[in-house]
Amino acid sequence: EQEQMLKDLADSDETKRAKTLLNVVFVSAEVAPYSKTGGLGDVCGSLPIALAQRGHRVMVVAPRYMNGVTDAMYEGAFDCQCRIPVACFGATHEVAFFHEFRAGVDWVFVDHPSYHRQGTPYGDTRGAFGDNQFRFTLLCHAACEAPLVLALGGYTYGEKCVFVANDWHASLVPVLLASKYRRHGVYVNSRCILAIHNLAHQGVEPATTFSNLGIPLEWYGALEWVFPEWARLHALDKGEAVNHLKGAVVTSDRILTVSQGYAWEITTPEGGCGLDKLLGSRAAVINGITNGVDVDDWSPSVDRHLPATFTVGDMAGKAECKAALQRELGLPVRPEVPLIGFIGRLDYQKGPDIVQEGLPELMTDDIQVVMLGSGDTEMEKWMKWAETQYREKFRGWVGFSVPVAHRITAGCDILLMPSRFEPCGLNQLYAMRYGTIPVAHATGGLRDTIENYNPDANNGEGSGTGWIFSPLSKDAMVNSLWGAIFAYRNDKEGWARMQERGMEKDVSWTRSALQYEQVFEWAMIDPP
Ligand code: ADP
Repeated sequence: EQEQMLKDLADSDETKRAKTLLNVVFVSAEVAPYSKTGGLGDVCGSLPIALAQRGHRVMVVAPRYMNGVTDAMYEGAFDCQCRIPVACFGATHEVAFFHEFRAGVDWVFVDHPSYHRQGTPYGDTRGAFGDNQFRFTLLCHAACEAPLVLALGGYTYGEKCVFVANDWHASLVPVLLASKYRRHGVYVNSRCILAIHNLAHQGVEPATTFSNLGIPLEWYGALEWVFPEWARLHALDKGEAVNHLKGAVVTSDRILTVSQGYAWEITTPEGGCGLDKLLGSRAAVINGITNGVDVDDWSPSVDRHLPATFTVGDMAGKAECKAALQRELGLPVRPEVPLIGFIGRLDYQKGPDIVQEGLPELMTDDIQVVMLGSGDTEMEKWMKWAETQYREKFRGWVGFSVPVAHRITAGCDILLMPSRFEPCGLNQLYAMRYGTIPVAHATGGLRDTIENYNPDANNGEGSGTGWIFSPLSKDAMVNSLWGAIFAYRNDKEGWARMQERGMEKDVSWTRSALQYEQVFEWAMIDPP
């Protein structure tokens, strides 16, 4: 019933102000454009703006990373001149707040020396930072204080807020609300929603670290976690741990994931990453809302990263983008050859190894392939090696580059996404907006957002926006790609109509924002 209501909202045309205006506080480890490393950053950079446009008062709290590379991003954020002490990890740590009001949203950055390091928000070339538990515990404490202490634009947010705690980094927010604030009568009328963007990362640490977190001792059970036996180091190891995300699953008022498919998958043993039973027990308050797209950033008609722009009615610019991309990559500039792209973290989740496995077979055909990504160093090396093997046909771009991601999305004919699991996935949404046809594993948000091509449907008009294959195997992926390549070469009209369907799909945040609003209202009505 809830799902139907959310679906109706997604189809509705409501674009005006919300009836009930709320104070909303997003807490996240990353936010675009300040500190994006993936979809989480994209969501926290654009959904708050859509909610503010509906009239809500919206704050986003994230760390102020000074890493020597993106520091200039924070130039518009000024010191609030408000310092607070946070008691955790055996000491009192002073944090400061910086603030920028932009696009109707209060962007609040928590400042502390532990956020001032080279690298990504999570680590550097040597791996994850050793004190991430501390860094994100600090973020949660600071975020809980921000609505009470920061007089943004003259007034604090006060005690009646809806918090949206994103992933494990923000997971202590609902735990703190329940254990520390509510028992002193503070935030009694606030609610907290856990938003799960990726269940694979849960913030699991030794049980002995619990006393560092600044959470009353009797709440240990909320975070208590026992490793399965196979994951233990030796016989005496009892597997005792704390799990930050588990704490949020237990203490949050409602739970959201970034697609309906993933909302179901996380309650199954295959997709639950050890939390399936617990999540299953909370199924009544779990909803899935598909991510939207920041259409100012990702629209082929205005994209400032492209050599040429284009629209559904005039696709000439896409051909120019393809030629320019081939030139940029040093591939033969040939308009007729199918150009296939892959963009994503080189991580087991994204299945770059499946591409690796399928490449020799694919390279027997007259096609071109470009991969953009960084992460697993073996995979990075392989991409470089494959370039030397297939000089005229393959390019591996190792690194993280937003402009290159835009140019690949626009210039390719096909975007390949062999993700093992995909909570929502944004690249397939971007691809469809740019007339690039996704070929993806049928999982999570990919299955929810891509409809299989059927040339015969609708009296020969055709239906669908791409290809989704299953199971996840080299053969299934390669077969699906052969199908797409065949259609690209031999079914030009059908291909053009498929591009049109993808480009005309409404994936703006406005609709997803309506659904978030509904979930906030449900949370406000239900007692904690
Ligand atoms: P995830 O959050 O799991 O990494 P999503 O598909 O939800 O996956 O979001 C990934 C986002 O990160 C997209 O905006 C994508 O364009 C971007 N991205 C991923 N890898 C790179 C890269 N190497 N360079 C630039 N952008 C990238």
